[in-house]
Amino acid sequence: METQVIQIDEKHMEQRLLKQAGSIIKAGGLVAFPTETVYGLGGDALNPESSRKIYAAKGRPSDNPLIVHIAKLEDLQPIVKEIPETAQKLADAFWPGPLTMIFEKSDRVPYETTGGLNTVAVRMPVHPVALAFIEEAGGYVAAPSANRSGRPSPTSAKYVEEDMQGRIEMIIDGGDVEIGLESTIVDMTVEEPMILRPGYITKEMLEKVLKSVGEDKTMMSDTSGQAPKAPGMKYRHYAPKGDLTIIDGEAEKVIEYINNQVPSLQKQGYKVGIIGTDATIARYRGDVCKSAGNRMDETTIAKELYRILREFDDEEVTIIFSESFDTAGIGQAIMNRLLKAAGHKILHI
Ligand code: AMP
Ligand code: MG
Repeated sequence: METQVIQIDEKHMEQRLLKQAGSIIKAGGLVAFPTETVYGLGGDALNPESSRKIYAAKGRPSDNPLIVHIAKLEDLQPIVKEIPETAQKLADAFWPGPLTMIFEKSDRVPYETTGGLNTVAVRMPVHPVALAFIEEAGGYVAAPSANRSGRPSPTSAKYVEEDMQGRIEMIIDGGDVEIGLESTIVDMTVEEPMILRPGYITKEMLEKVLKSVGEDKTMMSDTSGQAPKAPGMKYRHYAPKGDLTIIDGEAEKVIEYINNQVPSLQKQGYKVGIIGTDATIARYRGDVCKSAGNRMDETTIAKELYRILREFDDEEVTIIFSESFDTAGIGQAIMNRLLKAAGHKILHI
């Protein structure tokens, strides 16, 4: 299959191109598109055949459900059994935006889309290109991240091309994404809404709207013994090719520890990559040293993390050390993804 790449600028959206992309979805094809979180791999959420194609293109296990993307609130009711009051409040506060909510599904949503579950995950993204494309596609676009399974989620169209060239009909290039980490997922089917995956919308933000919000306990720990509530969280996502260890401790000690490891690893033939921050990066002695951003503004780190992990793959780094991050605010989502990438290898020094 020839994958067509088109450019759509959010400031001057060309209706003709959006129509073309939408008609591919309506005909049962796949189109990758930009959102504010990461690029999505879209198919018609109400067409079981489209969902099967998404799993095949990603190489993703079919028990790992997809998120259904909508463009307007009226489109929520037909695909869910009920909209709890708590969900209405969160939708008012955070939609369109990087929040995914889990509902009991209605009969209109095929089990192929929900990985066999009776619940459905729904999100209304805020990216103007995503919203316009979803409208043109018929209103319901199932979309996981547009990476091959096990690779970091793509934060620009060039990474979608790397993974999806020849596997899907079209890629909409809308530039670099804004946030860089996947949406916050909250289960709305339980008495106390529960965060299943941390993201840009934090527990503190949610608790400004709802009295209390729980957290899936497996979120920040090694889940090998327990089943996480979001099926996708059990897979070793976001894995770089190099062996990644997070080094947690006081900054000076971390720098010293990592630099001390480098010479002997290099002698053994390893190529060493290091993930630091703007304040520390110049002091590292690895083969490839990359700053993830500025600790004073962790949104910069969220935005760069996946790009850095992909670049280490391209540069064939075989051992990676990363600094650790605070688990407050967006830092919790950063650490959740980094811990997964590291297979939970973290050294406290
Ligand atoms: P992705 O968009 O690639 O991040 O994948 C979507 C993720 O949403 C999956 O990995 C699941 O963990 C989660 N998810 C989707 N639907 C459900 C659901 N019905 N219940 C719990 N988690 C879900
Ligand atoms: Mg994903």
